[in-house]
Amino acid sequence: MSEKTIRGNVNDTVKMSLLCEVNGSCPLCRKDLIVKKKLKNVRVFDVAHIYPLHPTPHEEEILKGETLLSEDIDSEANFIALCKECHKVYDTQKTVKEYRQLVAIKNEINKIKELSVLWDKQTLHKDISVVANKIGLLDELSIKNTLLSYDALKISDKKDDTFGMINEIKVSQFILSFFIPIKEALKDLEKQEKAKSTFICSQVKSYYVLLLMKDFNQAQIFEKMTDWFMKNTGITDRSKSEVLVSFFIQNCEVYSKC
Ligand SMILES: [Zn+2]
Repeated sequence: MSEKTIRGNVNDTVKMSLLCEVNGSCPLCRKDLIVKKKLKNVRVFDVAHIYPLHPTPHEEEILKGETLLSEDIDSEANFIALCKECHKVYDTQKTVKEYRQLVAIKNEINKIKELSVLWDKQTLHKDISVVANKIGLLDELSIKNTLLSYDALKISDKKDDTFGMINEIKVSQFILSFFIPIKEALKDLEKQEKAKSTFICSQVKSYYVLLLMKDFNQAQIFEKMTDWFMKNTGITDRSKSEVLVSFFIQNCEVYSKC
């Protein structure tokens, strides 16, 4: 079997997780790995073996003594998402430098994954609810005093035609009013060693990618993410949940490529 073939054991979940690992862009050339074709999100990447599955004598020679990511070469630990061009080059003319680069990227990813495992879902519920409660306690004056500057808004760069004007106005306003208070509430949680916003961000982002791969448009994704926050955090007030989703649109990679 050719190295370029995506094997049967690489199912959609694995592909999605590999895509998220590299934040939706090729780790070697930064090209986007999801493109829009006729309003559909199309994945344009290959699953590459970092250590070759069937190394040539030359590869065996140059990779002698190098770190292996896994004893099982044909496993997720040794896979990485690459654009088709880089995959072709990597499979036919890899250098030790590129090999080490990919191993380093993957090691970093694995570290974050291990940390996330330590994080129990219950903690996330509770802590995000703390942030949501703070939103509810804000008064008009404190919101006015912490308005985000209009220039800092990122939504116009991120939204597409499917998001809709009303959503854009709503989300923009939520971000302007609540971005700074939420950021501060999250910082407080970090200080108390309760929540790491990077973990929360990566969870939110993974859910976003899942929705994206199911071909929901931006307006639908906004709805679904709002539902998801309500379901997973115990927030009963829909607008509070929308405020949180808006925060993550501004702060994380929601509505970015991945
Ligand atoms: Zn590439």
